[in-house]
Amino acid sequence: MLETVRCNLCGADDTIPVMEIDGFYIVRCRQCGLVYVNPRYRPEILQEIYTETYYDHDGINNGLEFFGYENYVADEENIRATFAKRLRTIERYVPRGRLLDIGCATGFFLDLARNGGWEVMGTEVSAFSAHYAREKLGLDVRMGTLSDLHFADQTFDAVTMWDVIEHVPDPLGELKEVGRILRDGGIISIITPDVDSWVARWLGNRWEEFRRVREHIYFFSRRTMTETLRKAGFEVLKIESADKVFYLGPALHRLKYYTWDGVLTRATTRFVYKLGLDRVRINVNPFTKMAVYARKQA
Ligand SMILES: [Zn+2]
Repeated sequence: MLETVRCNLCGADDTIPVMEIDGFYIVRCRQCGLVYVNPRYRPEILQEIYTETYYDHDGINNGLEFFGYENYVADEENIRATFAKRLRTIERYVPRGRLLDIGCATGFFLDLARNGGWEVMGTEVSAFSAHYAREKLGLDVRMGTLSDLHFADQTFDAVTMWDVIEHVPDPLGELKEVGRILRDGGIISIITPDVDSWVARWLGNRWEEFRRVREHIYFFSRRTMTETLRKAGFEVLKIESADKVFYLGPALHRLKYYTWDGVLTRATTRFVYKLGLDRVRINVNPFTKMAVYARKQA
């Protein structure tokens, strides 16, 4: 069920443990600084995690079994608002053309990009999500991992991988494959947890991204992400902390997963719901993930 791996970035087998969570070790490569889970579930076990329950799972409420998204579909309006902003950033770097969203989930981003004039396609490993994207939104979504799908060379102008690379067993190989299917000058956009963020440093083993240790097997910093992209043939154009649109009520609720499960937080949350402000939309930067934009070098 478990496998032991070498460093994906530099190939060394030289690590120090960073922390242990639920029997899994998060380690740091002493040669290049990459942080990863080792040993970890074999890829075929990971695939089994991404079923329908992944996108509507109450596990996030028990504070231990952190995985999946709480009512991903119910949060559609906020997800779309978050994605619209990221699309505008991509469009600053590359003219509209063909876009591939790897791990497209229920297809909200692809739908948005299509409405904005892009020709879109998605990949997804979850049958539930792929079915939703095809049936409800009429999108072209291919089931499987990127390497299974064998797209032709230089097919796309932009490739997006949001909340995906930390799940991928071979990130460097995956990015090289993205480089092959992007045209020269094409853009990749990656969102992934930032292991060097102050939130990660401050929360340590209480950080939600670390708690998802079964499915999150790589924890990049801005430096290791830049280096991995460089090795795969990309030049980083921009790295920023990723912001996100939330409803005020659920955002306050989520504070309890951090350290603010105090009387004041609970009172404020009740007050907000009482006033009917829980569905007010706010743009929050939790300073916990990085948004990376990089260009394929010719
Ligand atoms: Zn290394």
